[in-house]
Amino acid sequence: MSIRLRLTLLYSGLLALTLFVLGVVLVVTVSRVTLSTIESALVEEARSIVYSRPFRPDFNHEGYDSRRVAAPATYVQARGPDGAILSRTSNLGDFDLPIDNSRLTTAQNGEAWTDVVSTDNGRLFILNQPVVSRGQLAGVVQFARSLADQDESLETLRNILVVGSLLVVVVAFVVGWFLSGAALRPIQRITDTARVIGAQHDFDRRVDYHGPPDEVGRLATTFNGMLNELQGAYRQTEQALQSQRRMVADASHELRTPLTTIRGNLGLLQRKPPIGEEDQEAVMTDMVDETDRLIRLVNDLLVLARSDTGRPLRSERVAIVPLIDDACRQARLLGAERTIECEAVPAVVVVGDRDALKQVLLILLDNALKYTPAGGTITIGAAVADRVVALRIRDTGPGIAPEALPHIFERFYRSDEARSSIATRSGSGAGLGLAIAKELIEAQHGQITAESEAGKGSVFTVTLPWAQE
Ligand code: ADP
Repeated sequence: MSIRLRLTLLYSGLLALTLFVLGVVLVVTVSRVTLSTIESALVEEARSIVYSRPFRPDFNHEGYDSRRVAAPATYVQARGPDGAILSRTSNLGDFDLPIDNSRLTTAQNGEAWTDVVSTDNGRLFILNQPVVSRGQLAGVVQFARSLADQDESLETLRNILVVGSLLVVVVAFVVGWFLSGAALRPIQRITDTARVIGAQHDFDRRVDYHGPPDEVGRLATTFNGMLNELQGAYRQTEQALQSQRRMVADASHELRTPLTTIRGNLGLLQRKPPIGEEDQEAVMTDMVDETDRLIRLVNDLLVLARSDTGRPLRSERVAIVPLIDDACRQARLLGAERTIECEAVPAVVVVGDRDALKQVLLILLDNALKYTPAGGTITIGAAVADRVVALRIRDTGPGIAPEALPHIFERFYRSDEARSSIATRSGSGAGLGLAIAKELIEAQHGQITAESEAGKGSVFTVTLPWAQE
């Protein structure tokens, strides 16, 4: 059963119950008041007949003519102490006003009692008034009035109440049904929206609510907020899945190239008759180079896979001076024919992972050496500003084209020049170096950026939080 129907039934039921209780109270009260009014009138009459003159239970006697002593609607009947009818007013005709004879035995205390009896012409209200003379019961005078008119009025009142209440309940049900429908409409809209989103995976949809910020309004706002979160999460998952797919495709492609070369070279070695010794040597060298490239590639992929699983890096205090000194030493070892300049570095400490930082500097140095021709200069330096430490590696290589610059940190990205350069042929990476550097630096809450001017050189800057004393 819907909430709407339950709510409407509930308050219609409550209204019906209230009306019923009110109706019963009203009918009972009116009935009591009517009876007590009749009783008062009869008591008054009884007083005037029984006590205002010596009692003679003979209503044919002129002093007791009912038409003179009692209201025309009142029936009077006198009974002796044994209950025998002595006399009655003429408006009774042959009808005996009944009496409960058992009460006669206790009637000498003079206390009147009342009875309501049913007759063929409707109910009668009877006041039985004992007449006591010198401590003895002299008789009982019964005064009665018909309740037919009152019963008829009560019946009419009852009918009005029943029909009126039924009408009110029906109207209340219909009005309530529409009101609760209007109040619950936004909830219906939320349900519809949720259904459409579920069916179409359309997370751009929102609940259209313009009402006040009441319970339903808050529900709509919360629902829309949840959809925002869901949309963000859905997009992230989509992007992650897409980049994973691209990564798998790129990785397969990159792995296939050296494997194809190795396979081709093995085919050459299997040739019958065998190829010349000089060629064999070249083939072997080629295979070793390709195998090295495969190992490098697999290592790089491993680093990226680890960073993808969110494995946390260490958060330790790393002094910059020894880090830069190490990098300079490495650069001088590898950078024959290039000038390596090491600037004076401030003695500061950053928060990060020492090994990961070394790896990043190596990647940047490796690139600088790779792309800087003989005679060029590579400068390594560091500076502190605004609570961050910036490590800089500058080269005087060919620089990076403006259209390539936004992509160099993407996985497997290599500029066209890099693809066709000697560097690639001499066993360089597969476009993963800078992607790894970026992942490692961001995992340490730092940033890595590149600036470059084609033909003049490039500057790679790594910024890290400065660990103050
Ligand atoms: P790769 O293994 O090809 O060097 P990276 O991710 O390290 O891959 O670099 C991506 C691309 O960025 C390179 O292919 C190259 O085009 C460009 N690049 C990186 N470092 C330099 C640099 N110092 N000078 C010029 N181009 C660079």
